[in-house]
Amino acid sequence: MSSKIWLVLVVGLVAPSCGDQGPELPEAPATRAECIQRAVFPEPTSSPYCLPFAEGSAYALTQSYCSAPGRSHMNRFAWDFAGPMGTEIIAVRGGVVVELREHWPDTDTQGGHENMVAVQHDDESLSIYIHMMKDGVLVELGDTVPRGGLIGWMGSSGTGFSHLHFMICLRAGLCSSPTEITLPVSYRNAIGPLDSIGGLAEGEEYLAGACN
Ligand SMILES: [Zn+2]
Repeated sequence: MSSKIWLVLVVGLVAPSCGDQGPELPEAPATRAECIQRAVFPEPTSSPYCLPFAEGSAYALTQSYCSAPGRSHMNRFAWDFAGPMGTEIIAVRGGVVVELREHWPDTDTQGGHENMVAVQHDDESLSIYIHMMKDGVLVELGDTVPRGGLIGWMGSSGTGFSHLHFMICLRAGLCSSPTEITLPVSYRNAIGPLDSIGGLAEGEEYLAGACN
């Protein structure tokens, strides 16, 4: 079931719109500089997003948004939080589970072999949680999850170490390279230092305050 849903997203990617009448697709930033141009972070207290882990816990941000050239977040708004295998992953915003995979072993480091969850919000954007633990997705397709709800456990599928790769995609079909469109995110309950433009800073640790 989950692989069928994934196929739908991929098909949406390669056949994006209906000729002249469809809305023009935005383009992914090609460079770090273009990524940084789009980096406008709302005031955290007005943000709909919490950190993706439980209140009172803290995790290091091992890679932040628009990272150095050659790194995987060079042209995207994505955040890597490192933690132990089995760390609880929390819904950053409420929505409906529209895609999930959890069959890949955590020992499988091949790119493309990531367990994941996608939750669609009421504005059609999606929160994407990647590298989940094998059989560590605790929600089902079609479930409605509240902000702050437990969705699964951190793993290392499709990568070399246990961490969560998290991002918000503009809408379904725009969550995969090279047309992936990701959005800058402020976290309303993040306790820790922000960078000069209000984003989370790579190498820092963030404590999750109350998610309300
Ligand atoms: Zn990442």
